[in-house]
Amino acid sequence: MPNRWISQLLLLGAWLAVALLLGAWFGRPAWWLAGALALYLAATLRNVYILDRILRRGKHIPLQTRGLWAELFAEIDKLKTKARRRKKRYHQLVREVRASTGALHDAGIILNAASEIQWFNPAATRLVGLDPKTDVGQRIDNLLRHPDLVSHLDDPQKDVLIIPSPKDDAGQLAVQIIPYGKAQRLAIIRDVTREVQLERTRRDFVANASHELRSPLTVIGGYLDALAEDEDLSASWQAPISEMERQAERMTRILRDLIELTRLESAGREAPYEFVDVAKMLQLIHQELAVMTGAPRIGMHLDTDDALLGSEAELYSVFHNLVHNAVRFTPAEGDVKCHWRHTDSDVVFSVTDSGIGIPEEMIPRITERFFRVDPGRSREIGGTGLGLAIVKHALQRHQATLHIESRVGEGSTFRCGFPKARIASRGGAVRAVI
Ligand code: ADP
Repeated sequence: MPNRWISQLLLLGAWLAVALLLGAWFGRPAWWLAGALALYLAATLRNVYILDRILRRGKHIPLQTRGLWAELFAEIDKLKTKARRRKKRYHQLVREVRASTGALHDAGIILNAASEIQWFNPAATRLVGLDPKTDVGQRIDNLLRHPDLVSHLDDPQKDVLIIPSPKDDAGQLAVQIIPYGKAQRLAIIRDVTREVQLERTRRDFVANASHELRSPLTVIGGYLDALAEDEDLSASWQAPISEMERQAERMTRILRDLIELTRLESAGREAPYEFVDVAKMLQLIHQELAVMTGAPRIGMHLDTDDALLGSEAELYSVFHNLVHNAVRFTPAEGDVKCHWRHTDSDVVFSVTDSGIGIPEEMIPRITERFFRVDPGRSREIGGTGLGLAIVKHALQRHQATLHIESRVGEGSTFRCGFPKARIASRGGAVRAVI
């Protein structure tokens, strides 16, 4: 027990003892004891009254208070001052948060588990047209209508969603959902109109330039072919003409890949759901590539006859590019093994080669346009530097994943995983090895 309580008890004991002694002296001990207790109770009630005034009405501690009660009042006063300071700091913080979120160019909207708006900053009014008087408590997808927004809210791991602005027909908004707390989410909405326009201009430029260059190149290629076959061509021109032919072919391949890439980029987020017989497609690719001069042995393991729902041309491009790369980057005495198999969650196409491999730090970059580990070697073997960029885009349009493992000098594995929604199961497993 703290000292002040012991001394308070001693004081009470002494007070009652004095009352008893005086009571005994005057021959009325019970009266004197009752009187002393009544006085003590009255003093306590007065202090409780003061405490009530301090707590409820914020009155100051009277100066004449002494002893235990004075200490209690002082403690309370300290707590009150601390609480007052904390409140002030909290208010200041709220003011600063308000001011900073108010100065943001991006809209910030706090949503609860049911996607109802809890709070938003002034930019949300400017960008999305939210009204602070009527829209708090409303579901965001009722106010910001877009077919993809609901699935985006349910799966915030998805990339940023670009949607048209509800306030401006030409405007484009990027919506990013960040989960936090138990089930709350913060929607960050950014005006990306300019970026989208620039990207569109870039894509149109590349597409137009590629189309424009294709016709003159076809003409040049035709003349070069004719020249190469001309028996009167002097010997000194034969080597330059065949080099020109080779370069014209390379330019044609680059233009073809550029056109394919811009087509994929502007074709929207989802590939169509057409039936694609993958096993048959892989057999055709095997037949075509196995006869390439200097090609390593290609093993095609078809462990399932599952078909896919997707774009036939794009899937052909994916599988062909991956197997073709494995063949080109593997020496003739090496091995390329392709697998088409079913797992519990998806269906997987993988290509493993025993070729030159890719340095670990370059793996994240090899799906970038024109990125090559060894540009000279890639050109030498007819590469355009666009194959894996095409693969990545085509797979994205099929909601498929691309996983790459590689070790320099040991080989590489490229694995594409297709989700259940893209599998058109034909109900049977086959064991075909080509
Ligand atoms: P390229 O036409 O140059 O092959 P890609 O986009 O298909 O262009 O590939 C990009 C680069 O990735 C290649 O230049 C090569 O360096 C590397 N690469 C791709 N596949 C393989 C592989 N199977 N083994 C080793 N390197 C590879």
